[in-house]
Amino acid sequence: MTTPTIELKPSASPLSDAEREAILASPGFGRHFTDHMVTIKWTEGRGWHDGQLVPYAPLSLDPATMVLHYAQEIFEGLKAYRQPDGSVASFRPDMNAKRFQASARRLGMPELPVETFIEACDVLVQQDASWVPAHGGEESLYLRPFMIATEVGLGVKPANEYLFLVIASPAGAYFPGGVKPVSIWLSEDRVRAVPGGMGDAKTGGNYAASLLAQAEAAEKGCAQVAYLDAVEHKWVEELGGMNLYFVYGNKIITPALTGSLLAGVTRDSLLSVARDLGYESEEGRVSIDQWQADTENGTLTEVFACGTAAVITPVGTVKRSSAEWQHSGGEPGEVTLKLREALLDIQRGIGEDKHGWMHPLG
Ligand SMILES: *Cc1c(COP(=O)(O)O)cnc(C)c1O
Repeated sequence: MTTPTIELKPSASPLSDAEREAILASPGFGRHFTDHMVTIKWTEGRGWHDGQLVPYAPLSLDPATMVLHYAQEIFEGLKAYRQPDGSVASFRPDMNAKRFQASARRLGMPELPVETFIEACDVLVQQDASWVPAHGGEESLYLRPFMIATEVGLGVKPANEYLFLVIASPAGAYFPGGVKPVSIWLSEDRVRAVPGGMGDAKTGGNYAASLLAQAEAAEKGCAQVAYLDAVEHKWVEELGGMNLYFVYGNKIITPALTGSLLAGVTRDSLLSVARDLGYESEEGRVSIDQWQADTENGTLTEVFACGTAAVITPVGTVKRSSAEWQHSGGEPGEVTLKLREALLDIQRGIGEDKHGWMHPLG
């Protein structure tokens, strides 16, 4: 299989500098998109072909396109940051490329070569470099690579045609007014993923499965849901779109990858960043009762969630049907904030990149 080269067909009418600057002044998250996108096709027998960088535009799909019916879809999320010297670098794109291949295998889709995934992201960031926010804060350009089944037909089977795309969206600071703890509803009945299911694949179906519990959490006054394992309804897994860490003094523990939770790049990075800062870090098991008891006896000192979008979010109030408690007096914990700063410093090029995580562009 040959790797396709991406043909550049840039827009003749990108947004004006003034229009773009107005968006970049307050981009929010996932609301505005850059001038271009990358598309690459795959068809059975031919493999990957027709890689193109084209103006950002709606897709035209037959109503019987398979993805619209059977949800054969996977996605990724990664960020490119402006560096102090004005250049741009993305964070660990190789990890996202490999996870994208793992997700593809789980959903019966073709694997995009790692180098093609990285090239597609690079080409888009280079073309739309003026959309990467200026250096300084936590702003970044969020990249959303994804793949959909484009064969037309209602028969249930893996499709014989796919479209891979990358779009990009400028992202502001997740906490514009300072880091604020998130409240969590511990769901003891609804589950997100089951053993043998697709909880470790990054696919829209897992998100669809989480929306009702998310709405229930909102009714309880909570912003996010924490899911337990689907068999014993006992072991803490993760939030709908972020992994969890438990801070025990100078040790941080995250639930081990059992197959039903997503292997976050942020989660993985923090295992190393914590050690670099002199903390212990490990993968383990935390039960819902232990979460409550260790908070009450004071050994569990902080809890935080992590993922590309928010980097690190402290957990404040936690509610389950029988109880409610609060971490760090409702303020971000000290270890949480130190880890957050250290990881962000690497990403924005201020901290030393000991592990070779930054991927420089252009
Ligand atoms: C993407 C995602 C995460 C976080 O992964 P990162 O690579 O750190 O962004 C965690 N859980 C789920 C379910 C996800 O989809």
